[in-house]
Amino acid sequence: MNSPKPKTPLPSVATENWGDWKWHMRNRIRNEADLCAYLDPTDQEKEAIEATKGVFQWSVTPYYASLMDATDTACPIRRQVIPLPEEMQFDSIGLEDPLEEVAHSPVKNLIHNYPDRVAFCVTSQCAIYCRYCLRKRMVGEAEFMMRKDELREAIAYIAAHSEIKDVLLTGGDPLTLGDAHIEWLLSELSAIDHLEIIRIGSRMPVKLPQRITSELCDILSRYHPVWLNTHFNHPKELTPEASEAIDRLLRAGVPVGNQTVLLKGINDTTKTMRELCQGLVKMRIRPYYLYQAQLIGGTAHLRTSIETGMQIMRELQGHLTGFAIPKYVLDTPYGKVPLTRDYVMGRNDEGVVIKTTRGDVWVEANEAPATGALPSV
Ligand code: SF4
Repeated sequence: MNSPKPKTPLPSVATENWGDWKWHMRNRIRNEADLCAYLDPTDQEKEAIEATKGVFQWSVTPYYASLMDATDTACPIRRQVIPLPEEMQFDSIGLEDPLEEVAHSPVKNLIHNYPDRVAFCVTSQCAIYCRYCLRKRMVGEAEFMMRKDELREAIAYIAAHSEIKDVLLTGGDPLTLGDAHIEWLLSELSAIDHLEIIRIGSRMPVKLPQRITSELCDILSRYHPVWLNTHFNHPKELTPEASEAIDRLLRAGVPVGNQTVLLKGINDTTKTMRELCQGLVKMRIRPYYLYQAQLIGGTAHLRTSIETGMQIMRELQGHLTGFAIPKYVLDTPYGKVPLTRDYVMGRNDEGVVIKTTRGDVWVEANEAPATGALPSV
């Protein structure tokens, strides 16, 4: 398999360190002084770094920091990971657990919301802490780390529920765990007869692609079917290093999908979303979901309107090949709801009346008797 082609944006970093994911984890930016090696933080950023201490985790890998634009305070990489004072303004609709995950957890860190699937938060650790994170309430927190006996309890729950066919390893980020730990988890889960697939949700290909080593890919390839969903939000994240990491996963037989969160000022334009989707497909990643940002406390400044999201989706339709267009969805405690424009307007004497993606009206002749499910137009 190909090895990553490391680059070293900081002259002080040796090439072999830049290619080593454990070096990046050990050398994450965790304070203002570390950040100054990459850029001069604004007064607002400095204030927010201080104010959010002890409230929400903060760390950035040197790799991800190297993608930040030191001269542009609106840089979409910077805005995903460096806090702003708005984060401490708890808006009236911001919640801690909008998907009611705690209420759906029969054992610690195991969310059983759909009958046939569970989300298994195997760790609370992430390599970076995204400012809009859905699980802000738990990521990076010691009380949500999983001891071996707690992992065993969750695995026993899955083994005891034959209706569960699909397990999503999530967190935190499961790929922050070491190889031996990941192999243990996969072998325990693979031994459960009724489990049909294992999915991994990880942002490592985006924030630390060096983590996708040949050794890790060899492990994943031993426990198929294993799928991986990652989380690119902006075309700036589609780097050669990320592309090589995805190539290693695909060569190991792991299909890769992408979930994007719609974020104000970061990716909420049609141009950005189009470039992102095109770039993902070029890397052989299937754009899967575009999520409406959740009502997490302290993230109002990063949420954009559903109308904006729908407009972007309208403008992608017809301008990108079908499989490059993600589904725009809202996650709720009752499952995902597609936020789609209704193209089918109703029925008239000639057939079914449809509004095309260009806004024209098209009548599709249809002689099957009307069932009454469509309104007369
Ligand atoms: S990587 Fe995922 S789980 Fe971790 S902080 Fe970012 S969005 Fe949250």
